[in-house]
This record gives sequence, C-alpha cells and structure tokens, in this order.
Amino acid sequence: MGLIPGLSGRGTPFPYKLEPSRAPPRRTAMRTPPPLASGPQGPDHLRPLLATVLAALREGGQARGGPLPAGGPDAVTATVRDAVGEVLPEKGDPGALHTLVRVLAEGAADPAHPWCAAHLHCPPLAVAAAADLAASVLNPSLDSWDQAPAASALESLLTRALARETGHTDGLVTTGGTEANQLALLLAREARGAAVRLVHAAGAHHSLPRAAWLLGLPDPVEIPAPAGTLDPAALDDALTHLPGPHLVAATAGTTDAGLIDPLPEIAARCAAHGARLHIDAAYGGCLLFSDLHRHRLAGLEAAHTVTLDLHKLGWQPVPAGLLTVRDAGDLTALHHPTDYLNADDDTAAGLPDLLGRSLRTTRRPDVLKAAVTLKTLGRSGLGALVDRVCALAGDFAHLVDDDPRFDLHDQPAISTVLFRPAHADDSGVADVRRHLLVTGRAVLGRARADGRLWLKATLLNPTTSTDDLADLLTLVHRAHAEGSR
Ligand SMILES: *Cc1c(COP(=O)(O)O)cnc(C)c1O
Repeated sequence: MGLIPGLSGRGTPFPYKLEPSRAPPRRTAMRTPPPLASGPQGPDHLRPLLATVLAALREGGQARGGPLPAGGPDAVTATVRDAVGEVLPEKGDPGALHTLVRVLAEGAADPAHPWCAAHLHCPPLAVAAAADLAASVLNPSLDSWDQAPAASALESLLTRALARETGHTDGLVTTGGTEANQLALLLAREARGAAVRLVHAAGAHHSLPRAAWLLGLPDPVEIPAPAGTLDPAALDDALTHLPGPHLVAATAGTTDAGLIDPLPEIAARCAAHGARLHIDAAYGGCLLFSDLHRHRLAGLEAAHTVTLDLHKLGWQPVPAGLLTVRDAGDLTALHHPTDYLNADDDTAAGLPDLLGRSLRTTRRPDVLKAAVTLKTLGRSGLGALVDRVCALAGDFAHLVDDDPRFDLHDQPAISTVLFRPAHADDSGVADVRRHLLVTGRAVLGRARADGRLWLKATLLNPTTSTDDLADLLTLVHRAHAEGSR
C-alpha cells in the first residue's frame, strides 16, 4: 500500500511504530506532532494548508495593489515586523502560515505585474510552481541514489537533453548562473592548471571575476568593450600577448543590455590560440527554444562549458541553473568519494554515484519543475514565450524612439531596452528609478552604457501588452516631471 511498504497508512499513529517502545515514559507527554507533507496522509494534510496559502497570496497581492509595496524599505520593514511579532514565540501560532504568506505577498516585488521589469527576474509559470510543490513534499536529495531514486534518473535525462540543445554531452544542475560560472572556472582550472587566466569583456557578469578570486586563479584580464560586446580582434591581441593558459569567457545575453558576443569569431580565436572557452548564456541560452532566434547562438557548441539559467527566459521559480559540458570527461574532476554516500562497492554494485554532480551535498530536485515545464509546453510553447518577450521589447523600443520625451539607447538584442528621459542628467535618471520604487508604482533597473546612466526595462513577462508599456512610459514621464519640479 503506497509509499511505506509494510505499513497500512490508515490510522497509523505518528511516529510509525513497529513494536511498542520500551523507553521509559517521558515526564511531559509529547503533543500530537504537526502533520507531515509526505507519507500516505500527506496530500490530505496539505489540502487545507494549500487553501490557506492561496487565500493569503490573493489577499496580500490585493493589499499591495501594484508591482511593489509603497513606502520604501522602512515602511515594508515595519509592516513585516508588526505582522510577524515574535519570530520564535514560546507557544506556537497556528495562524502563522496565513500571516506570513500574506505579509510576504503584500510586500513582494511581483514579476507578473507588467510594470515590474527591472531584472532578469521572471514571473514563474503556474505549472512549474505546482511541480515545485511536489519537489518540496517528496523532498528527494540528490547527493545519493537512496535519497532520490526517480529524481536522480529524471535529472540525468533532463541534463543530457538540455546539454544536447547546446551541442554538448552532459550537464550539471546549479542554483543559477553564478554557481554555473564558478563550476566552469573550476573545471577549467582542473583541465588547464591553477595558472589558467580568465579573459573576459568589460560587460561580462561579475560572478566570473569573483569565481577567479574564489578559486585562487591569477587576476583576470578585462578587455574593454566600448560597443558592449567582446571584440574578437582585441581578444586575439590579448591571447597573443598574455601568458597562458587562458580561459575566455564570452557572453550570450549581457546582464545590462542583453547583447550577444560574436560567438563563432570568438570560438575561432580561442581555437587558434588553444584557449579554453566558456560561454555565459544565463540570459540568452533559452533563445535555443525559438526557431526565430536560435541561429543567434551559433558557436555555442564550440565552447567547453555553457551556463544556462531557466529562472530567466525559462520562467522557472528560483533556482534553476545549469552548466553544460562539451566533454563529459571534464566532470571526473568533481568525483569525490565519501563512504556513506558513494562507497566504491555500492557504485560497483550499480548504485549511481551522484556526489560528483555538484559541489553541494544535500540538493533539491530542481529538475522536476523544469522537466514538467519542458514537457507541458514543448519546444514550440517555450519558443513562443521567448518570441513574445523579444517582440514586446521591440515594441517598447519603438514606443520610446517615437516619443520626444525619451531617448532610446539602442534596439534590443533580446528583451532588454535601455532608455532615459530626454534632457535628464544621470542623477535625474537615478532619482526617477528610486521615486518609482518607493512609491511602489514601477520597478525598473539601471545600467551604464556609453558613459551614461540609463533606465533598464528587462521584459520577461509574456502577458504584458504594448498598452501596458505605453502606460509605463507615461508613468516614468510623470515621475521625472514630479522629480524635476
Ligand atoms: C543572471 C546572470 C548570471 C547570474 O545568474 P544567477 O542565476 O543570478 O546566479 C550570470 N551571468 C549572466 C549573463 C546573467 O545574466
């Protein structure tokens, strides 16, 4: 019967007891323990709690009424403090689930709101969030097969399928682009030695030089990128004059502007110089799902490692990162024997050795939500979402370009648009952004380009309309007018 062989489940008292305990009676009798999420009764325990969660989410969202809570950090902190009261009260509070979920929803930045467009912070798909609930309930841990039999099999299917998309052979699940970039540098160090030097463009993600620092690698070399992308001639020059070995990090979708480096040219220069190549495609990698945009990632397959992030253009709840590797043999560097998790005799007897698939030990099955999403939407469904947000960014850029109240930085490469009120100076641009944040009216990002500060709209919400974006412009204009009065 079900999940726990040998136990009927029906009416089985907690804890599941096979024989009467001989322990002496405790002085204070144990109260009935709180219900568990898994086990035969788990779904029944969860149902009323889910109803509470859903009601609290709705109430909190309605109380907020916009993309962000109004009032800035002090007001939000006070609301949270008042609602929470004592974090660890002496006596428990059965209303805590409702109270805390409601206050978190009320004080959330809601990426599903059309005017919440600052970061690569996506509104998660409902089906992915629902799948993630099952991951929490089953609670597999991917550090050993005996904690995650089916989850580890699913992870292996998913990582290999996504690796094939990048033209690679295998992949590791990570908590995001940062961990994937760290692993890429670690694999480069193990393949090329501790003197391997990171070479990257000025627009590369900050986690790359940080990983070099973390891993004790030589100081990275940053190549100026006045046009925002890695210039192959400048790269060639650096690879010619700097002592190697080199690890070149290119970017497919820069965080600030969504620009894609010229990947085939970069790959050719790396091959000519014997440099190892990592491509950080945390933002742009999901263009692979789109028939319209996939060609722009040509050259990805030439990299030794590629970073992907499904919690950006993949609409997953955080975390959902991936590192794919061209040569699966590179991963043997992560092999790490520990008797209680992957004893040699267990491995020889056929139990999969999972510990070398991450630097973490206990690890959530983040593959479940991703696998459910890929299968539910299919390539065409995901591709349509990608196409939709790219088209929205094009529409928004046109609106900005046609509007004398604003300057447009450039046509979007993926789904990021940089713009600023015409005639504003940098501090005026920064003020507009903060004014919108603290009034809770809109969430826009900021980025430097061409020596100036710009407002950044990162469009990741496929349900946003062009009218929403026209209204956003009006809102920004008003905030600027209010600020400059
Ligand atoms: C977002 C991003 C990262 C970092 O990813 P996290 O998931 O936030 O750790 C790395 N590189 C690029 C290009 C990114 O856009």
